[in-house]
Amino acid sequence: GELTEVDLNSGIESSVNIILGYAKKQQVEIIRELGELPPVQCHAAKINQVLMNLIVNAIDACEPEGRVIIRSRSCPGEEGVRIEVIDDGCGIDETIRDRIFDPFFTTKPVGIGTGLGLSISYGIIQDHGGTIEVSSQPGEGSCFTIRLPLRPPSR
Ligand code: ADP
Ligand code: MG
Repeated sequence: GELTEVDLNSGIESSVNIILGYAKKQQVEIIRELGELPPVQCHAAKINQVLMNLIVNAIDACEPEGRVIIRSRSCPGEEGVRIEVIDDGCGIDETIRDRIFDPFFTTKPVGIGTGLGLSISYGIIQDHGGTIEVSSQPGEGSCFTIRLPLRPPSR
């Protein structure tokens, strides 16, 4: 993949567009709250893959009539950007919270979940010098937060 300067809001828009049909089928509403972002140097296709992973997970966590909010902000001082994917779904039990980023960890039925989405996403964000964190209230929902610097650290 190539490093390019991208507006991650357009990455959010194209990821949401790909997933919109699935969201409709699951009767989950997707809400975008996009702030103005500085351009970020990244592997755009990989970041879109992360966004899609998080959004599909959020939809899967929801009951019909659920809501997923995707929020973008520039970080204070504009040293990076922050993207949150928030759902009002089942939440994540404390007993599994430190395993969800492990490869092949899934709570979904065999053949549905591969358990690879979050571990791949974690690696992609780490490669960009960013962080991915989760906070969750079982029974109320979850929030996944990605923070990315304006450019990956040089290696
Ligand atoms: P998969 O989606 O194939 O199960 P992931 O790596 O994407 O694999 O996610 C691993 C597990 O983390 C999921 O099976 C689920 O238990 C949990 N999880 C991830 N996102 C959420 C979410 N938004 N709400 C509740 N649980 C989640
Ligand atoms: Mg997944």
